[in-house]
Amino acid sequence: MSNLTPMGFNDLLAGNARYASGFQWAGTPGVAARGVAVITCMDSRLDPLAMLDLTVGDAKILRTPGGRVTPEVVTGLVVGVHLLGVDRILVIAHTRCAMASGDDAQIADAIAAADGTRVHGMAIGASTDQAAALDFDVSLLRADPLVSAEIGGFMYDVDTGILTQVH
Ligand SMILES: [Zn+2]
Repeated sequence: MSNLTPMGFNDLLAGNARYASGFQWAGTPGVAARGVAVITCMDSRLDPLAMLDLTVGDAKILRTPGGRVTPEVVTGLVVGVHLLGVDRILVIAHTRCAMASGDDAQIADAIAAADGTRVHGMAIGASTDQAAALDFDVSLLRADPLVSAEIGGFMYDVDTGILTQVH
């Protein structure tokens, strides 16, 4: 991407001004009030707090491509469990996820086809076997003695809003 036209951030700062004008969360503690941590995808169709009927202050949210459990996610969960009140962890995959449309090489191919950028070899965490990836990530967390919390694996349907526990 070499021909980007800068848009600036003024529209977003204006949005923040509207948000801050009605701000109601002053003094909210940093400990997760509902004891919840959510690991899910970066997908723009997912609103993790809203899908669980949670609000500001309730949960720690960790997002990655595909909602995969990366070393940084584990770090966040260790801090969350031992310092920030987390005792339940939801790993949430979702339907029509781009990271389930191919393996890492195929996603790199798609990026190359989209704008010519080559990222082959980058660890993306993509997998066409989404169920296996979720099962592996849940197993990984359950086997980690530092992540001492109740851990569940879930699938979210982006076309119905329904969350289903699968692990
Ligand atoms: Zn996704």
